[in-house]
Formats: sequence, structure tokens, C-alpha cells
Amino acid sequence: MLPARDARSARYGSLHAKYHELREQFTTLRNLYYLIECAWCKQRLGWKRKTAAVPGDTSHSICPPCAADLLRGLAHLQALLLGMYATLPEEYLWLDLLQASTM
Ligand SMILES: [Zn+2]
Repeated sequence: MLPARDARSARYGSLHAKYHELREQFTTLRNLYYLIECAWCKQRLGWKRKTAAVPGDTSHSICPPCAADLLRGLAHLQALLLGMYATLPEEYLWLDLLQASTM
């Protein structure tokens, strides 16, 4: 009975030491890279090696589905604005252009 217990104890000690070794390697690597995540949905997009110029552990980008949603929203907004301008009398358009050119 005792040899089996000693074997399990030795196995546990070995696995525990390996865990700490791998954990230390992970922490070292983690400190060298940014986690890139989507700024809209927080999906993890990958890792990028850190540069000295940018502090922090996480950087943001945009994932393809969120970019598609954003572009659809912008296209809808553009169509809405163009539709609004189309219904305005022409003198309002000239006023907008004059105001924009003086800014
Ligand atoms: Zn996203």
C-alpha cells in the first residue's frame, strides 16, 4: 500500500512542478504579446507581438461580421441622408454648401 501512495505522491509532485514551469512560460509569453479583440463584440481575434510604443495587454480591431454590420449601417445612413437632401428645396442645399465652405 505504501509504495502505491509514494508513487502517487511522487507523480503529483512531478505534475505540480511541470504545471508551475508551464505557467511561468505562459506568463512570460503573455507579457510579450497583445491580445487582439473586436472592439464591438469582444471576440478574440488573435495575438500580436508587443512594441515598446503601445502600453497595455489588449489591443482592438474589428471582426469581419462586425465590419459588415458597420458598413451596412453606414450605407443605410448615407442612403437616408441622400434621401433627405433629395426632398429639400434647392436653396437649402446651397445654404449647406456655403456654410460648409466657411468652416
Ligand atoms: Zn466583432
